[in-house]
Amino acid sequence: MPGPPGTSPLHVNIELTDHCNLRCRMCSQAMRSQAHGSPSGFMDWPTWRAALKGLEDMPGSVHLSPHWLGEPTSHPEFARMVEYAFAVNTGNHLFRHFKLHTNGLLLDKECATLLIRLNRQRCLAPDTFNTVHFSLDAWARRTYLNVKGVDACQRVEDNVLRFLETRHELGAHYPSVHLAFVVQQGNFGDLRPFVDGWGAVLKKLGQDWLLTCDWPPPDRDAIYIRRLNSGQQEQADAMHRRACCELGIAGTNPGPVPRAPESF
Ligand code: SF4
Repeated sequence: MPGPPGTSPLHVNIELTDHCNLRCRMCSQAMRSQAHGSPSGFMDWPTWRAALKGLEDMPGSVHLSPHWLGEPTSHPEFARMVEYAFAVNTGNHLFRHFKLHTNGLLLDKECATLLIRLNRQRCLAPDTFNTVHFSLDAWARRTYLNVKGVDACQRVEDNVLRFLETRHELGAHYPSVHLAFVVQQGNFGDLRPFVDGWGAVLKKLGQDWLLTCDWPPPDRDAIYIRRLNSGQQEQADAMHRRACCELGIAGTNPGPVPRAPESF
């Protein structure tokens, strides 16, 4: 439900798991053996149910994401848990929007179809599940292996393509898809092929899409050239700026590309 007039949405992350099936070189999850300083785990079913029930008492409009440091689809019961969340969200009384961040590695046809159909539940706003953010960061196999730590480029690209095609076949606008590329030393050469390659896919599917250097709007497909969060932030910002200039999306501001609130 929308919150009272004038209130901001409340973004709630409920982490299904802090396990991840990739080892991205820029990710704090991958840099530590224990993401939270204790052995990684998977949320159990009673906890998920209780966490969802707890959203009833949240003030304002809740925007729910089922992740924090791990890969949510690696939870063995991911599909069942998300399906349940939508089934009990009658009238959007638990959450108004739902956003999934994923690396796409486990997003098979069955899971993709389920996710795309979730908005069709009775008594739910049709844009409830509004965005899937795919963390891709590479175009070529070798780059993917270098940046993401696993030789899975083809499988991920196939999964993302299938997700887009399935959404198209089902005639669904939502969830929007954000194809993210975190600019860094190891993938700079893939920048243009990534934009051209995914741009061609979106164009072929007749999608209206956006090329952007900061968080895309949740209701549009986008290729998102993302800034690296780094201990050497000035260098990361400069590289991001260079990438945006090469793609013609940096604007005329000579300084770092300004950041939207979600970037902090
Ligand atoms: S897939 Fe996501 S959570 Fe996993 S290592 Fe990469 S950036 Fe981190």
